[in-house]
Amino acid sequence: MNILVLNTGSSSLKFQIIDTDYEKIEKSEDKQLAKGLIERIGSDKADLTFQITGQDKYKKTMPLADHKQAIDEIVNWLTDSNTHIDGISSLKDIHAIGHRTVHGGEKFSSSVRIDENVVAMVEECVGLAPLHNPANLKGIAAASETFGKDIPQVAVFDTAFHTTMPEKAYLYAVPYNYYTDYKVRKYGFHGTSHRFVSYRYRTLKGLTPEQTKIITMHMGNGCSACAIDHGKSIDTSMGMTPLEGMMMGTRAGDLDSSLIEYVAHKENVSCEEIFNVINKKSGLFGVSGLTNDMRDLEAEAQKGHKRAQIALDMFAYRAKKYIGSYMAAMNGADAIIFTGGIGENGFEARANICNGLTAIGIEIDPELNAKAIRGAEMKISSSTSKVEVWVIPTNEELIIARDTFRIVSAK
Ligand code: ADP
Repeated sequence: MNILVLNTGSSSLKFQIIDTDYEKIEKSEDKQLAKGLIERIGSDKADLTFQITGQDKYKKTMPLADHKQAIDEIVNWLTDSNTHIDGISSLKDIHAIGHRTVHGGEKFSSSVRIDENVVAMVEECVGLAPLHNPANLKGIAAASETFGKDIPQVAVFDTAFHTTMPEKAYLYAVPYNYYTDYKVRKYGFHGTSHRFVSYRYRTLKGLTPEQTKIITMHMGNGCSACAIDHGKSIDTSMGMTPLEGMMMGTRAGDLDSSLIEYVAHKENVSCEEIFNVINKKSGLFGVSGLTNDMRDLEAEAQKGHKRAQIALDMFAYRAKKYIGSYMAAMNGADAIIFTGGIGENGFEARANICNGLTAIGIEIDPELNAKAIRGAEMKISSSTSKVEVWVIPTNEELIIARDTFRIVSAK
């Protein structure tokens, strides 16, 4: 079955076409047929990059007023007589659509087929994800217009994997009515990624979910850690919004919330302005004053840039503390898994996080660690490490395609 996977942002749209079915899932032989990215939707100069798997990129710039026009452009390319994608020649060759949907609140503990009720419930969660959910809804509406009402569409939520967290993990220590009246609680994000890499680890090791206690570290521009006990998320570092938790590219992560009012007063600006700084100008970028890009920071630190080094040290120290606290939460762990752009490639970051953790049974092998880059799926811990450490590339699109296939095929 050919699944169109859509990840819709406010002015961007990423897509993949993935061919999957039960046999392909079983053998891990799902095929990515094509992918693409459209940026600056809503402008006269939207940038489109499309690529058939294994072939050169096709790029163009054109006016695109909205997400509907962007999806139409994807369809035009897919069905163009010059585009030869195995098994795709018309709109009918796309059999279902899977949408990355950021916030499902407490309502969705798994992926669901989209209907009017689901759309209404995603709308109800807009207050909790004001930047993301409206964009996801635009993607759903635009896809229905282009492909027609009959094409099956599925929503796969970033929050769903974390709905197994117990109250003691998801409640904040604030008046209880904030939760009952306003739904203030930890929801967690990157659920699709944490779910995928923990599933891959179990598959590689031949273990059932019940046999595992894992800590997954998704480290990209956004970063989150997750404690997965018996296959279920029991705690995660991102909170009601993606702002909480680990230090990230531009987000501060954990901090004392009274800082917001204090700095707003000092700088004579609104709390909203400081809140914006904490989201968009903090983290690696804010501390170093240079960049949110881990590679560039490592290069600058090598040249002796002091604040770049401080940012790197803070990043590793804060990540390390999450590993320690989740070891405590689960009374140990069998494995730590690194994923995301930094987790998959940043061997220095992985070493800085794992070094000095022998007291809790974690020791990486420097040679294996240095080898684990660019899509490698491998163990990097030493033979004497009590806790295994793995690098496993994430693949959120694949999970979305598989969930979509399973839901659409279920009788
Ligand atoms: P996003 O969260 O936007 O999907 P990615 O998962 O692509 O982001 O991660 C982006 C981060 O990964 C950036 O900080 C980038 O510097 C980092 N990164 C990519 N390659 C490397 C590398 N070889 N070494 C260290 N960091 C890397």
